[in-house]
Amino acid sequence: MRRKLVAGNWKMHGALHQNSELLTRIVAEASGLLCEIAVCPPYPYLAQVRSLIQGVAVALGAQSVSEHPSGAFTGEVSGSMLAEFGCRYVLVGHSERRALFGETDTVVAAKFEAAQKAGLIPILCVGETLSERESGKTEFVVARQLSAVLDRLGVAAMSSAVVAYEPVWAIGTGVTASPSQAQEVHAAIRAQIAALGSGVAADLRILYGGSVKPQNAKELFGQSDIDGGLIGGAALVADDFLTICHAAN
Ligand code: PEP
Repeated sequence: MRRKLVAGNWKMHGALHQNSELLTRIVAEASGLLCEIAVCPPYPYLAQVRSLIQGVAVALGAQSVSEHPSGAFTGEVSGSMLAEFGCRYVLVGHSERRALFGETDTVVAAKFEAAQKAGLIPILCVGETLSERESGKTEFVVARQLSAVLDRLGVAAMSSAVVAYEPVWAIGTGVTASPSQAQEVHAAIRAQIAALGSGVAADLRILYGGSVKPQNAKELFGQSDIDGGLIGGAALVADDFLTICHAAN
């Protein structure tokens, strides 16, 4: 049985007082939830968030990681640094990193590997653009993004990872994939992994991300291959995030 995971991607949002207010609400309700919760704040707030969630069933995650273990890489943050700060998860291959910061499939796979080497659980984000969907390439694109990791590390690497299907056209747009659109891609992802290792595929959590809201979370999470959500905008509003977490219960 896969335990649902709801992870909040705060992107480049937050401030000390806002984080504190948001987490006070989340922490107060976390123990009543059956799903796992994670929050991924910007790097400078990792220490603050870590102290606010101490002793509570909320996991800490980061939004990116360097593919290098250490060295002269100004501005980068390594996996071992994130692990030292108590991170359990790290996003890799978010579409904003791919589109705005030039992260290729190869770089994403290297980051995935670096995360696991540091003891972190990568949340591998995959998803197609609108034009790719409209030209019928959705499953091809997602399979290619997944293959970059599978070819580099083998299917066993997926046993300590999470995949997030995030159609680019749904991220931050208010347009959500319908439950059946999302389920179709989630099932294809699981089938691709199952072809290499059925046990790994059966245990793999595949999250949906892209304008998940309190109004649509329950139906999305009710699909057989959707194991929770990666939440952007709604993760910054305590009531919305908590309603989404309850929907994953
Ligand atoms: C995201 O950035 O991963 C995301 C899913 O954003 P939003 O929920 O705002 O669409």
